[in-house]
Amino acid sequence: MSGNSNRLQAIDNITNQAPMGLGTTKPLDKIWATDVFNLAKMEDALSKKAYKAIKKTIQKGTALDPDIAEVIAAAMKEWAISKGAKFFSHIFYPMTNATAEKHDGFIITDPSGKAITEFTGSLLIKGEPDGSSFPNGDIRQTNAARGYTAWDPTSPAYLMQTDNGTTLMIPSVFISWTGEALDKKVPLLRSNKAMNEAAQKVLALMGEKKITPLNSSCGAEQEYFLVDENFANSRPDLLLAGRTLFGAAPAKGQQFDDHYFGAIPARVQVYMQDIEDQLYRLGIPAKTHHNEVAPGQFELAPYFEAANVAADHQQLTMTVFKLTAKKHGFVCLFHEKPFAGINGSGKHVNWSVGNSTQGNLLDPGDTPRENLNFLLFCGAVIRGVHLFGPLLRAVIASAGNDHRLGANEAPPAILSVYLGEQLEQIYKDIQDGKVTPDADGGLMDLGLSQIIPFPRDPGDRNRTSPFAFTGNRFEFRAVGSAQSVSGPLVAMNTMLADSLNWIAGQLETKLDSGTSQTDAVLEVIKDLMDAHGNAVFGGDGYSSEWHKMAVDERGLKNLPTSADALPYFKDDAVKALFSSTGVLSETELESRYNVYTEQYIATVEMEANLVVEMAKTTIYPTAMTYLAELATTNASMSAMGIDMDKSVAETVAAEANAMIAAVDKLSAAIAMHDFDDTDAHMQHCAGNILPLMLEIRAHADTLETEISDELWPLAKYREMLFIK
Ligand code: ADP
Ligand code: MG
Repeated sequence: MSGNSNRLQAIDNITNQAPMGLGTTKPLDKIWATDVFNLAKMEDALSKKAYKAIKKTIQKGTALDPDIAEVIAAAMKEWAISKGAKFFSHIFYPMTNATAEKHDGFIITDPSGKAITEFTGSLLIKGEPDGSSFPNGDIRQTNAARGYTAWDPTSPAYLMQTDNGTTLMIPSVFISWTGEALDKKVPLLRSNKAMNEAAQKVLALMGEKKITPLNSSCGAEQEYFLVDENFANSRPDLLLAGRTLFGAAPAKGQQFDDHYFGAIPARVQVYMQDIEDQLYRLGIPAKTHHNEVAPGQFELAPYFEAANVAADHQQLTMTVFKLTAKKHGFVCLFHEKPFAGINGSGKHVNWSVGNSTQGNLLDPGDTPRENLNFLLFCGAVIRGVHLFGPLLRAVIASAGNDHRLGANEAPPAILSVYLGEQLEQIYKDIQDGKVTPDADGGLMDLGLSQIIPFPRDPGDRNRTSPFAFTGNRFEFRAVGSAQSVSGPLVAMNTMLADSLNWIAGQLETKLDSGTSQTDAVLEVIKDLMDAHGNAVFGGDGYSSEWHKMAVDERGLKNLPTSADALPYFKDDAVKALFSSTGVLSETELESRYNVYTEQYIATVEMEANLVVEMAKTTIYPTAMTYLAELATTNASMSAMGIDMDKSVAETVAAEANAMIAAVDKLSAAIAMHDFDDTDAHMQHCAGNILPLMLEIRAHADTLETEISDELWPLAKYREMLFIK
């Protein structure tokens, strides 16, 4: 098809499609977790002894007896087969942001040739996917490629139902033969453990008696775009890169703010409901959905869960989104910046830590004692962000997220903490010595009595902060929409563990020397704020004053690109953080650096190649066709003695020439391969390749606004964003 015929065809397909009805949905209690082998189902299926054992493993992290695993495997198999499953799969979470699975049948045959099913405890516990082609960051040589998956009993197994049948999915870790983590789950579990151990120390020093294991919690808000598949499939850039590499701004974008929280288009509502029903069956508590800021952009947020389960559920949610979009004729885009000039998509990772006895330690609470715990835990976060801001930036670094961070729509690439006015004041007063203990060991607050216990900051949101306290949790807002939440959770748990260890050390020394508990807490917080208070910032994170002040006066790092941020995986302080807490060894950390940098470079180079290809084979030929039309018309008109305006032809010719000149430069830049090291290669991507891609795009987008609509082959922004 040439000219705009495929665009017109796409529009025609969309406008004439039969509407999918809302259909009937079953009540929540009829579908909730029907496809999950959760504790409730285990209680029904297992002996009391086996049930108690697995419950203890799930809730307290105790090791599971192989005999019990055998019993659970049998029950799991029976349940899955009764629901139509013929296959099982250990699903794991490699260092990419995707998931991986290898499917095995339950089937074996007996000597008489009869098909029977088998699923033993050892099959449940351990699978061996080999997986030599998963990124391992040089940990495994391919000749010793064995990596294996191991069942994570703390994340429930579930059934994945697709048109191709039903599969029992077993959430798993993925480790190398030598025991190194090759995935995102192992470090997350280890970071929880490290955080728990450090938190126990602090709570014990605070005189807490019964301290159950602490876990981190996560609720991740997911933003996404929906584009009709007829458009998406007609654009090579959306198909391969998940974002538009070309496209002139439409006359109407998001300037009217009429999309945010607006009425959800009917077709999208049907899609959302379909998704939510599936998520409920999978035991994922989808809670809110709404339109986002940009046209065609939406959000879903679940109710928060234990971080490890939330991370698995988040991946599963993205899978369900993608698969269901197909069914509804959409493509679901998780890219952080699919369309230039309008808002991109993030994933706000809400995070807190707590247990069943002390509750949420990031909730100020109602009593002075709860407040002291809170001040320590929240202070630990402040210290962590100050010491490890660059790490937090590094764990959200990706080629996609770079397009979003630092633009005036998304949190800046400088990591600071927003506490809200009242809480910031309290820390400041403690730092300035204005808060003293009262007779009962609580806090005498010199004019702050109305604030302690602190009332919640209702809805007080600083949307310009990358890391904001929101009343009973922190919200890491700079995470990219396509990213796994595990990296950010690992970084937050680990920096918290480190800070809590530091706090425990300080508290212990002070308490040992006879300082009262409240005094000791206040002294620790004062020291902490003196050293790390620079990370606290309540102002406008988008402003140029902040960018200057953060770097010049406060010594914070501004790391605008992944090329600037990813090298922090090799930083000595970061190495020490991960090895001292036992979360990642130096080898494991280095492998992550290798994988993430490789992904960054591969993404930029793939996009650059696509820019070259589209400019040369789609856009330039269109410009030539238009020029030929203009030239023919002009010649005929001149022959008739009518002079035509030549400025359009001149502009088109000049832009096409300039575009091709830039394409040549980009091709040369892509061909360069002689770099001192990976860091230099990344800088080349960020500093040379990406700017050339933008230069080409600028010419192409001008061409789009000059060339006859009848000839333009690529779906336009207005069509992709507004036709649903
Ligand atoms: P907003 O858009 O105002 O930030 P949402 O309701 O869309 O709020 O999302 C807030 C997310 O934070 C939800 O996933 C919610 O379950 C989660 N959340 C609430 N409390 C906690 C907590 N204590 N720990 C972790 N996540 C939490
Ligand atoms: Mg939010």
